[in-house]
Amino acid sequence: NPAPLLVRGFTNIDQSPGDYQQPDFSDGNIRIMQWNLLAQGLCQTSDGFILCPTGALNWDFRQYHLLEELLTYQASIYCLQEVDHFDYIKSTLNQLGYDGIFHPKPDSPCLYQPDNYGPDGCAIFWSKAQLELVSHNNLVLRRLCGTESNQVAIICQFKVVSGPSAGKEFVCVTTHLKAKKHHAELRSQQGLYLEQTLREKARDLPLVVCGDFNADPDETVVEVMKKSQLNLLSAYTLLSSSGQEPPLTTCKVRGSKKGGQEESVHTIDYLFFSKDKFQCVRLLEMPLEEQLRPNFLPSYAYPSDHLSLAADLKLIV
Ligand code: NDP
Ligand code: CA
Repeated sequence: NPAPLLVRGFTNIDQSPGDYQQPDFSDGNIRIMQWNLLAQGLCQTSDGFILCPTGALNWDFRQYHLLEELLTYQASIYCLQEVDHFDYIKSTLNQLGYDGIFHPKPDSPCLYQPDNYGPDGCAIFWSKAQLELVSHNNLVLRRLCGTESNQVAIICQFKVVSGPSAGKEFVCVTTHLKAKKHHAELRSQQGLYLEQTLREKARDLPLVVCGDFNADPDETVVEVMKKSQLNLLSAYTLLSSSGQEPPLTTCKVRGSKKGGQEESVHTIDYLFFSKDKFQCVRLLEMPLEEQLRPNFLPSYAYPSDHLSLAADLKLIV
């Protein structure tokens, strides 16, 4: 039966006592949420989430949990992927003072599904009370040979308009790299192209790069980001004392062609930030795998197969 949304708390990274839920924008923090919210056009047909009840994937039900997940955490910026209901989300977020940009994939797989809602793509929304959009680039990611791939990114330059950081500028990116394990080489090339573009466009500005990278922490494209001259840190490595990525950001079971089941429980979503220009103040906690079993994601309690990530970042330059 329909269940309440899974709601998570925040962990303070500076180890100060207390559990904070509401962001305090007066202290100059910027709350970034990263989320692959799962395209409706894919989940109701091609995704094969066999443990998820059909009712939980029905748009009449899912649409409310999608909004609830977004609104619960009151982000300054939402970096989203697999958005195929941009106008729906925008119409609600608009009323709450957000503006947004959508960049569809050139040849979205959603378009090949029956009863689809148009192409999916990346989207970014920002709170106009806190931020002003200075400029943006809608990018199609290229391979090393120069040809375009079917994956996109949005690069936005923002100016802070309120609080102690008013007047400061930074760049924020949302992207969704090519799916499936055997496409690691293409992801690596997409990451190199994005990294090179950001070195040109972000210059010395503080930078946040969010995305569904479809890559485990040991994959080349993650190394590309972590070892870049952009000087990025993966926020969620700050949640563990050992500096490891969390055990999972996605937790699903798909039906296989042979009639079996394929578990997919791993970390493929990331929130990177300039480590010399932001301090990470707190992070939205991740549930344990045990909490998501036995039905995994998506479910009546959570509308996507990917968990959202959220970080409160303080500009320190
Ligand atoms: P990707 O290959 O990057 O992935 C598309 C989506 O599929 C992603 O959102 C991904 O989710 C999801 N996905 C990942 N693994 C699986 C899986 N095992 N089973 C089902 N879905 C999965 O997209 P591209 O845009 O590069 O590819 C376009 C696709 O569209 C092609 O793979 C092609 O098959 C299809 N297409 C179909 C046509 C047709 O006539 N039917 C014509 C042209 C294209 P996540 O990122 O969350 O892992
Ligand atoms: Ca997906």
